[in-house]
Amino acid sequence: MRKKQFKTESQKLLDMMINSIYTNKEIFLREIISNASDAIDKLYYRSLTDSSVTLNKSDYKIDIKINKDKGQIIISDNGCGMTKDELENNLGTIAKSGSFDFKKENTDQKDVDIIGQFGVGFYSSFMVCKKVSVLSLAYGESTAYRWESEGIDGYTIEEAEKASNGTEITLTLKDDEGEERYSEYLSEYRIRALIKKYSDYISYPIKMDMPHQRLKEGSKDEYEDYFENETLNSQKPLWKKSQSEVTDEEYAGFYKDKYYDFEEPLKVISQKSEGLTSFEALLFIPAHAPFDYYSKTFEKGLELYSSGVMITERCKELLPDYFSFVRGVVDSADLTLNISRETLQHDRQLKVIAKAIEKKIKNELAKIQENDREKYEKFWNAFGAQIKFGMYDGYGANKENLKDLVMFVSSREKKLVSFKEYVANMKEEQKEIYYACGETVDKILMLPQVEAVCEKGYEILLLTEDVDEFAIKMLGEYDSKSFKNVCADALDLTTDEEKATKDTENEKNKEMLDYMKDAIGDISQVKLTNDLGSHPVSLSTQGEMSIEMEKVLSKMPGADKSMIKAQMVLEINMNHEILSKLKLLFINDKEKLGKYAKILYAQARLINGLDIENPSEYAQLVCELM
Ligand code: ADP
Repeated sequence: MRKKQFKTESQKLLDMMINSIYTNKEIFLREIISNASDAIDKLYYRSLTDSSVTLNKSDYKIDIKINKDKGQIIISDNGCGMTKDELENNLGTIAKSGSFDFKKENTDQKDVDIIGQFGVGFYSSFMVCKKVSVLSLAYGESTAYRWESEGIDGYTIEEAEKASNGTEITLTLKDDEGEERYSEYLSEYRIRALIKKYSDYISYPIKMDMPHQRLKEGSKDEYEDYFENETLNSQKPLWKKSQSEVTDEEYAGFYKDKYYDFEEPLKVISQKSEGLTSFEALLFIPAHAPFDYYSKTFEKGLELYSSGVMITERCKELLPDYFSFVRGVVDSADLTLNISRETLQHDRQLKVIAKAIEKKIKNELAKIQENDREKYEKFWNAFGAQIKFGMYDGYGANKENLKDLVMFVSSREKKLVSFKEYVANMKEEQKEIYYACGETVDKILMLPQVEAVCEKGYEILLLTEDVDEFAIKMLGEYDSKSFKNVCADALDLTTDEEKATKDTENEKNKEMLDYMKDAIGDISQVKLTNDLGSHPVSLSTQGEMSIEMEKVLSKMPGADKSMIKAQMVLEINMNHEILSKLKLLFINDKEKLGKYAKILYAQARLINGLDIENPSEYAQLVCELM
């Protein structure tokens, strides 16, 4: 029989498929099944208006058979089928769908991505087959035809026998070659797994004979194989149902199965959008962070479906980093139509979907924050760091969007509060939002400055995570109020009168304080203050870098510790009896004053959670004085 040639573009695509280096070759089955489902759709829709079509919806199905001896997989449907012309036009030409711009040379990375993400339909079977045979009888026709091809050098079409309408595709697999084990597709279990993975929500049953074993009749230990025809796909996706149709248990079960979580999700979000790009989404906010969430191996992303057919397992374009904890599924029928045409178009559509999803997630989180504080706190403890990082990341590009989701423990009730709540609680004369940093809430509350500010009746946000102060600095202000670290030297809550006494006292003792500063060395100032409550000393800082920032930054890999230095100020409580002792020493024993200064500085560092630069000198000094 005379071989017909493929159209030029098809030939190139075919060549790309046959020589594919694409690792995810398994998608060929998804493509064939999707075509079968489309063909059934066509006939089904026709039956709605054309009474000559007598099939019932329940008659439609897709059958898979495996012929191990011949190395074949046979997929058949009872859909619309193809006429001779259709076989010729649909399978001989790919260019008609304009799928590719073939000006570029063959298999570069971009093409490979297209195969993986959206497939190239029927031709993808040539990635795994040495021969493809399509036997089809169009509905209402009496003559069937067989289209056959062994690849690049063309195809044949001949008349053939077929009893009923539909298409039967026989795939003859390539021989195994090195790493490439094409024969794996002859396993019923492998095929079933592929159907589950990619085609679970095809709306017609996909059936296959599955092997089982049973005891031989009359025998106690002899088994025999038998086959049972089973439906491999579950057909109706949960996200296609309205939320009222699905029970909480069903959602939780789906989530746990799919994402291997033992705990129910904190929140189920179902979204339906009918805009220019319509889609359905079923999203889950987990109740706890997966063990690898804050590690490099964690991959964000949502599962992307197009009309019930899985396209990618983790489409990362659909989620911003700060919502990377969200799991779930997005299904858009609009994607297929355009996707294979133009990657650009597909990027744009994904962006539209991603925007809508992001907005939805944010609104849902805000609702939980408003209505169910206990739940929100659980969420916040699991994923708050990610949101705070999101506020800081990208030079604060998303800070406005995220700021109201952020919460910190406040000194007032040791409970999480939002900035909004904090501001609503501010004292009338308070101009700034106060915060303090430390390792734990309790440790921060013990800081002398914190104690003093709390005693005056102000509320302080207590920042305990590395990212916190950076995030707050990036935010800059909330409701036109800037943030103030209560441990920074610039905070002064004393009255004018107190301020005046303090200034005079500092002036009077300037020489002594400078002497102490020189004795200590690595410090920018020693000064007297009157807002440390009963504590003798504390540390504060001058300039932008706080003590906590110094700690965080110097922990980073490759940090140059000599460059990362907060400018420390040793504050001495002028109302504490230690001051008179120091004054005396300044007159009688300057050397001893130097040692006292070092000890007081070391103590202040310890109180503020810093280590002492020279512990053995410190120990020696203390012993000397004992
Ligand atoms: P796409 O499905 O993206 O259009 P394919 O290469 O997968 O591209 O298929 C080309 C065409 O062949 C389909 O559009 C359809 O018209 C036809 N076709 C493929 N498989 C079948 C089938 N099982 N039954 C009827 N027509 C089919």
